[in-house]
Formats: sequence, structure tokens, C-alpha cells
Amino acid sequence: MSHDERPGVASAAAPRRAGGADTDLGAWRGVWVFVELERGRVHPVSWELIGEGRKLADHLGVSLSGVVMGPDEAATSQACDEAFRHGADAVHLVRDPVLAHYRTDPYTQSLTELVERNQPEILLLGATTLGRDLAGAVATTLGTGLTADCTELRIDDETRSLAATRPTFGGTLLCTIHTLEYRPQMATVRPRVMAMPKRDPSRTGTIVEERVALAEDDVVTKILSYIPDADADKAQLAYADVVVAGGRGLGKPENFRLVRELAEVLGGEYGGSRPVAQAGWVSADRQIGQTGRTIRPKLYIAAGISGAIQHRVGVEGADVIIAINTDPKAPIMDFATFAVVGDALQILPALTEALRERLGRRVAA
Ligand SMILES: Cc1cc2nc3c(=O)[nH]c(=O)nc-3n(C[C@H](O)[C@H](O)[C@H](O)COP(=O)(O)OP(=O)(O)OC[C@H]3O[C@@H](n4cnc5c(N)ncnc54)[C@H](O)[C@@H]3O)c2cc1C
Repeated sequence: MSHDERPGVASAAAPRRAGGADTDLGAWRGVWVFVELERGRVHPVSWELIGEGRKLADHLGVSLSGVVMGPDEAATSQACDEAFRHGADAVHLVRDPVLAHYRTDPYTQSLTELVERNQPEILLLGATTLGRDLAGAVATTLGTGLTADCTELRIDDETRSLAATRPTFGGTLLCTIHTLEYRPQMATVRPRVMAMPKRDPSRTGTIVEERVALAEDDVVTKILSYIPDADADKAQLAYADVVVAGGRGLGKPENFRLVRELAEVLGGEYGGSRPVAQAGWVSADRQIGQTGRTIRPKLYIAAGISGAIQHRVGVEGADVIIAINTDPKAPIMDFATFAVVGDALQILPALTEALRERLGRRVAA
């Protein structure tokens, strides 16, 4: 890597070959996190992955780098600064007007070229719509292994490989996958699975300016207009501090009102287990669990939810779990912080009433 004139800014050298079984895997060093910047906003899962990447990099004794791509100066500079504040040592930055909107081809080309050029041993992306698309395309182009939707990442000291754990067989088992013969080792992680790292405003790092030969004419996908998702801000379950959820134990859809009211009094969000989402008691984007949202609230109240493993994996990052269930032997009672044995149809309205008085919040009837 050669350095240009500006302090803290290095420019990258010529491409090398991607890491297959025939290449020197020891030459691949460093942990990378793709920083998902879209329409000027970084998805918070990027910082969660920087926090996780920091632990992996420290364990390996290597540096942690972010990858920032975008069209303009302001948003990309801000993303670089935030990456440093959340724990990155360096950021590889590609600025190009072709990267104005996410499109698979130019983003895949850019990330693939950066990886071939710099040879990181680990590459992490958020398991968001964008991240899933990009990770699959990059892994396929590089011909390397990708473990999707991981719930735990650690380093196996014997092989120096990434041990990427994810649910399998419908969430009934966890498997740990190692990519031993190819590099980089790629993994995606869903939002809120990893904890948000502490932000240090005084932290800085090195920006590595990268150039990729992108040409708009080579990109077959054209963005004709942008239609924002009208529901995008509605269910902010993943990042809510308080979540109240209901399950089949509520008996019928009308009773779900009790869950919504308690959530509203607490200033939180509401959600449901898979059966109630499938039955239409709540919208699909409010389903919590392995095939729904992963949440990490300060307080999670689960009413009439049994706590099957597929639900548990989506909520166990909560600081405090209160379970309301008529069955003291329900699985959720084993991992709840407070297990309340009783009828949710009586306990929920009583709680709402008591908290409404205490917190002074109004709930529309
Ligand atoms: C591949 C796969 C993916 C899945 N993904 C998800 C997922 O993302 N999220 C998810 O939630 N599930 C998921 N599931 C389904 C999961 O296995 C369970 O079937 C589901 O979580 C059960 O939902 P539940 O707790 O609402 O219902 P139930 O299992 O029927 O439990 C109802 C509970 O309510 C209690 N109860 C009854 N009456 C009352 C009352 N009056 N007051 C209080 N408690 C009462 C009962 O004791 C019981 O514990 C998945 C399954 C598979 C196979």
C-alpha cells in the first residue's frame, strides 16, 4: 500500500488474487466490516458489527477496518468518523457517483476489488436486505464461504479460523461453521443480535482512499425513481427500549388490544409470536423470533407466549424479560427474569391501568 500526501490518508495498490485453496491463506490478514450507508444514513447494524469485529481483531492481533462506499463527501466522511468512534482502526473508502443508490453490480464490483486488493481474512456484513444481497454476490464472485444469519462469532485458536454459529434445522439446533480453505471468511449477522459498542468521540483512524473503475454505462440496473417505504418508520421493534408482545395464549385477535395498550403506556413497541403474525393478529413486520425480528430492548414483556426456541433466539438479548403465562412449566419461564404465573387477560389490563396512573400516559380507548 502506498501513501499519498495527506496525513492519515493512504491509497491502495494493485489487485491481488482472491484466496482459494491454492493460495497462501496466511497472507490474508485483518477483520473488515461493511458499513451499510444508504441515502445518507448508516444502518446501526454496522456499528454492532464494528463492536463485534473489534473483539475478533483484538483476539487475532490484527487491525479492524470498515468499508464505506457512497457518492458524496459529507455522508461518507461522517460514516468514516463514526466507524472510528465505534472501534475501527481504518476505513477503506470508495467515493463514486455510480454508488449513489445501492445496486448489486457496482457494489459487488467495488467490494470484491477491495477484498482482492487488501486481503482481509474476515469480512462481516449486516443481514439486512442490502447486506444479504451484497454478501451473497460478493461471496459468489470471490468463490469463498459465507455463513448467513450468525448468532455468535468467535475465533478458533487451533485453526485461527472464524467459528460462525447459526441456527439450523428450523432453529432446533445451532451449528458452527468454519471456512478453512478459502478467504475471506464471510458472515452476516442480523440487526440487534450483537450489542451496540460504546461510542468513543475521541477515537480517530486512517482513511484508505480506494479507486474502483466504475462506469455507469456498465450497470444494467437503472434507478428511475425512489419510492420510500411508507411503513419504514412504523415498527421500530428492533431498536425499541420497551417491547410488549402477545402470543396464542391471548385466545383471540380482539384481545391483542391489551398488548398494544400496555406498549403505548410504556412508550414502547408491540409485537407477536409467529402463530399470531401468521393469523394476522399483528402485521408480519411485528413478528419476533428467528424468522421475524431480533430485539434487544431494556424491557420485554411476553404475554401468552410459550417461549419456543425459535422465539427465544429473537428475545434473549433483552435486559429484562417478564413472562406472563398460565403454565408455570412453559419454556419461557426458564429464561424469563420475572415469571408471572397467571391469566394475561387479567394481568395486562391491570398493569396498563396501574402504569397509566403512575406514568400519566393516555391511551385511546
Ligand atoms: C422454522 C421455524 C421458524 C419459526 N420462527 C418463529 C419465530 O420467528 N417466532 C416465533 O414466535 N415462533 C416461531 N416459530 C414457531 C415456534 O416454534 C412456536 O410454535 C411459536 O413460537 C409458539 O407461539 P406461541 O407461544 O404464541 O403459541 P403457543 O406455543 O401455543 O403458546 C401459547 C402459550 O400461552 C399460554 N397461555 C394460554 N392461555 C393463557 C392466558 N390466558 N394467559 C397467559 N398465558 C396463556 C400457554 O400456557 C402457552 O405457553 C418457528 C417455527 C419453525 C419451525
